[in-house]
Amino acid sequence: MSQLTAADFAGRRARAAGQARRAGLDGLLVTPGPDLAYFVGYNPSAATERITMLVLPTEGDPALLVPLLERGDALQSRAADGLEILGWRDGEDEYGVAARLLRASGRYAISDSAWAMHVLGLLRTLPASSYAAFSDVLPMLRAVKDAREIDLLVAAGAAADAAFEDIVKVAFDGRRERDVADDLAGLLRAYGHEQVDFTLVCAGENGADPHHAAGERVISEGDMVVLDFGGLKDGYGSDTTRTVHVGDELTAEEQEVHRIVEEGQQAGFEAVRRGAACQDVDRAARRVITGAGYGEYFIHRTGHGIGMTTHEPPYMVEGEEHPIEPGMCFSIEPGIYLPGRFGVRIEDIVVATDGGGRRLNNTARDVRIVR
Ligand code: ZN
Ligand code: ZN
Ligand code: ZN
Repeated sequence: MSQLTAADFAGRRARAAGQARRAGLDGLLVTPGPDLAYFVGYNPSAATERITMLVLPTEGDPALLVPLLERGDALQSRAADGLEILGWRDGEDEYGVAARLLRASGRYAISDSAWAMHVLGLLRTLPASSYAAFSDVLPMLRAVKDAREIDLLVAAGAAADAAFEDIVKVAFDGRRERDVADDLAGLLRAYGHEQVDFTLVCAGENGADPHHAAGERVISEGDMVVLDFGGLKDGYGSDTTRTVHVGDELTAEEQEVHRIVEEGQQAGFEAVRRGAACQDVDRAARRVITGAGYGEYFIHRTGHGIGMTTHEPPYMVEGEEHPIEPGMCFSIEPGIYLPGRFGVRIEDIVVATDGGGRRLNNTARDVRIVR
């Protein structure tokens, strides 16, 4: 993110203010987390009780409210460029200070993860004001990525692919899921991830639980193993899944289920078009799996957006009619889960372009044999 300039952040804020205006809001209130990093390039801990909040009005200039003792840090960050930074002092009524930046009967959207006590404090101070969660009123705020963000997502995807090409060379047979998961985490860091969000290693019957956390189960010859891993590299996310098999001897059913998931994943990918609805990607993948008789075993949505977090809008799910726009980045990850037996999932991150989808994960999608 080091290459982002004050003008980039100002451009993001201006676009968001436009979206908020069209949504009939008086402004956006952004608290620490990925939204604040996105809009100001400054992101103090979200775990502190003192209020930090960007007020981004639809009319007028934005301002960043920070605890006075953190104002120095905020001033040294990129947030300082072109943004007023107001410090409030311990003992002062912080909501009274915030209220001076708000309209008494304003309608605002606020970060999903804002502290409840801060929202309640604002409501107590400005009883005629109202607040809605970003995800309810402006879910697509960060969904369309710019060229620089896409470069970072491409690099994160390539790093995850490199980790996969290395993990299939380690020993699986006779080791625990958690040992392979530790190897995967080490590889993600070695390939530049500063944060590992998940390393799911789901062997045999555990593969039928899509979010099974790697545990004590010992992997052995004949197991299908679902590997789903990702995190953040230079502030942007990776997330990919491949299903491998321990040894050469796949049963006819293992081969069949894997082939169907591969076809479903391809169908989802081919459904990515400018203007198609997000749910069309889900429908395309699901049609293949349902048509093959496994519909009841595909128990989750087909995908989720990715950016500064590894799960965010847009969601590729039935009922999501929002159109796909060039620059949206999301996963396509159908699966089939046979309870008590095994599971298969295949996941790539895809960016929508004018000409369809472009995969950011490019390791082979057929069953890889591990030892
Ligand atoms: Zn097998
Ligand atoms: Zn995943
Ligand atoms: Zn995913």
